[in-house]
This record gives sequence, C-alpha cells and structure tokens, in this order.
Amino acid sequence: MGQVNEIAFQNQASTIESITLRIGPLSGVESQLLKQAFPFVAAQTIAEDAELIIEELPVVIVCKQCGSRSNVVPNKLICSQCGDYHTQLISGDEMLLASVELIRSEPGKDGSLEEVNHV
Ligand SMILES: [Zn+2]
Repeated sequence: MGQVNEIAFQNQASTIESITLRIGPLSGVESQLLKQAFPFVAAQTIAEDAELIIEELPVVIVCKQCGSRSNVVPNKLICSQCGDYHTQLISGDEMLLASVELIRSEPGKDGSLEEVNHV
C-alpha cells in the first residue's frame, strides 16, 4: 500500500480506481488471502473503493542441460524439452505492482475557480 499511496500522491490523485498486481505462484503470496485482506488495508485510504486485480504470472524455468525455456507448474520445475531437473527459475516468484488507475483532482473544473476569474 505504501507504493500505491506514493503514486497517488505524485499524481495528485483524488481517487484510486483499481490496482493491478502480478503475482507468481512461488512468491508465497496467496492471491485469495490478499483479496480478502485488501478492503481492510484500503479502508479509510485513497484506495478505499479501488478494485484489486490480480494477474497470475507463469512459472518459467530455463534448463541448465539443454538451455530451453519452459512454462511449468509450480511444483514440477522440470525441463519440458529434455526432462532434466537441473533448472533455474526465471519467473514465478515475484510480486509486481503492474498498474494503478487513478482519478486526478482537477481544480480547474471546480466552480469556485471560475468565480475567482470573474473578480
Ligand atoms: Zn532441458
């Protein structure tokens, strides 16, 4: 939430519409739990009415034997080309803040400013 608040502040946002997170299955973050916790975390903040969107990242490994990349399931990090288990994880354990949709506060559209101009 700290990162989101910072973005909102920099953009002079008045409301946050949605927050998109990309979460790998091996990140240790439970997307379901995160979704359940979000309303409590966001309550009384600028993101109070925001929608939390979670995109699952694929688990990608590179094989140390044949060098090919494969998309695999989290509990089976085996090369899909040659079947070797000497593989290195490239993607799947990260949690990224992908995007934040926000509404800027625009004082120019505020009626009170027009009055000031007429004076
Ligand atoms: Zn391989």
